[in-house]
Amino acid sequence: MTYSKPGYPKLVTDLNKLRENIETVKNLCDARGVEIAGVIKGCTGLFPCVQQYEKAGVKYIASSRLEQLAELKSRGIQTPLAMIRVPMISEAEDVVRYCEYSLNSELSVLETLNMHAGRQDKIHNVILMADLGDLREGWWDKDEMVRAAIAVENEMKNLHLAGVGMNVGCYGSIVATPEKIEELVAIAQAVENAIGRELEIISGGATSSLMRVYDGNLPERVNMLRIGEAILLSYDLPHLYGYECSGMHQDVFTIQAEVIEVKDKPSHPVGEIGFDAFGHRVEYVDRGIRRRALIGLGKCDYGDPGDLLPRMEGVEILGASSDHTILDIQDAVDAGREIKVGDVLEFDLKYSTMVYLTNSPNVAKVFIQP
Ligand SMILES: *Cc1c(COP(=O)(O)O)cnc(C)c1O
Repeated sequence: MTYSKPGYPKLVTDLNKLRENIETVKNLCDARGVEIAGVIKGCTGLFPCVQQYEKAGVKYIASSRLEQLAELKSRGIQTPLAMIRVPMISEAEDVVRYCEYSLNSELSVLETLNMHAGRQDKIHNVILMADLGDLREGWWDKDEMVRAAIAVENEMKNLHLAGVGMNVGCYGSIVATPEKIEELVAIAQAVENAIGRELEIISGGATSSLMRVYDGNLPERVNMLRIGEAILLSYDLPHLYGYECSGMHQDVFTIQAEVIEVKDKPSHPVGEIGFDAFGHRVEYVDRGIRRRALIGLGKCDYGDPGDLLPRMEGVEILGASSDHTILDIQDAVDAGREIKVGDVLEFDLKYSTMVYLTNSPNVAKVFIQP
């Protein structure tokens, strides 16, 4: 029997809010003739979340992790699935088995996908990726990309060349400007000229390309966006780029953690300073004696404590070790808010904390049902 711990930490997901976020973004994109791929890797493909995408009628469901997509397929998700990390050769067979679409950037992988699609008696849809400067996946040499497209079109009879795509704003922090996205449209046209037909899909990026939909300047022929963060968190566009994003919920996810110690302590460590639990040198600010709280949640659960956002005013995150997070609660106490052992504190998430917490077996997952 596996042990299932009662209580906290608990990740609460409000499925109504998630559904409304999906619908808001979908309506916005529908109005511009853009289909969305709901990218579910940010919440580790949690099944009740994915069901909301299906109910909202997104055209594709996508993840970078084949294991998540395989699980969705086996649990009966009907929406076409897209593998959006360019596949490993070693997973090509299962990409064909579980996914209708994949993004690709290597001829040898395409040949392997074609072989397995033949063995499985299937036609697998591929989108070829162009690297427009973010320097993650995609062809840099665009003539080589066109030659690959010709090879898929003419020689790989179990692959269907569905379109071309690009991604920015992930490694190289490149902004999805209209000019940048136009480069992809030009590549699509070069491919179309070479193969003598129109492509169905021009996949113009991720959440950062959604800014072009808000501004009404997404290049005409782009008809697919792969949206993760903007739906799950709606943090980046309002907080990093100043978009209004009215009607979007930023609190689909709540992490709840239990207070396990509350004491007055010095704010500067006492003794000779060496390294912290993870081998780092840390600077500590001396603010005298302050009221501090520990919660039963740590870096193992969420990664970086700086990406955890306390909901209660006057609560500040000082740091963390694997299993403890240390909070300065003096300002909250001074403002008359009581925090005692056994209380539960709530935090908003950012992308990194969402990824880790949804992935953690130590965190109970609770869903507010529609
Ligand atoms: C993760 C990912 C996305 C979604 O990114 P968000 O910024 O979360 O919208 C889209 N495309 C690819 C290729 C990805 O890896």
